[in-house]
Amino acid sequence: MSQTYALILHGGAGVLADHDYSAEREHMRHLAERAEGRLAAGDHAMDIVCDVIADLEASGLYVAGKGASPNRAGRYELDAAIMHGPSRKAGSIAALTGFISPIGVARAVMQDTPHVMLAGHGACEFAALKEFQRVDSVNDYYTPAAAPDDREIPTGTVGCVALDTHGELVAGTSTGGTLNKMEGRVGDCPIIGAGTWADDQVAVSCTGQGEFFLRTATARDLAARMAYGGMALDEATDAALGAVGGLGGEGGIIAVDRAGNVAHPFNSPGMKRAVVQAGKPVIVAVN
Ligand code: ASP
Repeated sequence: MSQTYALILHGGAGVLADHDYSAEREHMRHLAERAEGRLAAGDHAMDIVCDVIADLEASGLYVAGKGASPNRAGRYELDAAIMHGPSRKAGSIAALTGFISPIGVARAVMQDTPHVMLAGHGACEFAALKEFQRVDSVNDYYTPAAAPDDREIPTGTVGCVALDTHGELVAGTSTGGTLNKMEGRVGDCPIIGAGTWADDQVAVSCTGQGEFFLRTATARDLAARMAYGGMALDEATDAALGAVGGLGGEGGIIAVDRAGNVAHPFNSPGMKRAVVQAGKPVIVAVN
C-alpha cells in the first residue's frame, strides 16, 4: 500500500459572484475530510467516489440528485457515470427518472450487467429490479438548486475523482443536466470519455455546458494528451479545457493522476470544489 492518495470533488461549474456559498463550502469540506480519512485508512477509491457523489446528490445543494432542475416537460431526468481506471470498467445511466441516487444505479450497471450504459425506460426498469430507493413524491423531494436567490445559473453537476493507496484511479459524475434542457436531452456526464473517464494514468470528471464537452470528448482528450502526447496532468487538463473554450464552451475539469497530482481548472465564473492530497491541508473553493 502506498502513502500517496488524492481526491477532488466538484459541485458544478458556475457560481453567482455575490451569492453566499457557505453551506456548499461547509458541506464540501465535510465530505473531503471524511473522504481523506477513508483514503488514509486504505479504503478503495470506487467506494469513496460513489459515496461522495451520493452525498452530493442527496444534499440538494447542487444541480444533481435532490437539487436537480426539471426539464422543459417538467420531468426530472438524471444522468450519471462511474469508471474504474485499472479495469476500464464503466457504468452509466441517462435520463433516469424516479430514483434517489443515479450514481448508485450507474455503479450497478457496471457491476451487474454486461453493458456500460442504460437509458430512459430501461434504466428505470433496471433500477427498480435492483430495488434502488425511489423518489416517493417528485414535488416534495426535489429542491432545484439552480436558482439561488431566484437567480438562475445554467449548469451545476457533481463529480469526484480519486487515487487511492492501492494505486487505483476512479472517476464519477452525476447531474440533473443543464437548465431548461429538452426532454430526452443527454449531456456529457454519462458519456464515457466526454464527461467522465478513468484509466491507469488519470481520472477525470467534467462540468459545464455538456454539448461542448461532448463535441471535444473532453475527458478522453485529456487522457490521450497524457498517453500519446506525453503531457503532464496540468498541461493536458488546460489543453482539454482550451479545446472546450475554443468552441465557445464554458465549464471546468477535475483530474488526478497516478502520482497524486491534481488539476482543477475552469473557464466558467467559478467552480465549487474541494481538493485532498496526502500531507496537505484540504482546499475548498468556489471561484
Ligand atoms: N455538464 C452537465 C450537462 O451538460 C451540466 C453541468 O455540468 O452543470 O449535463
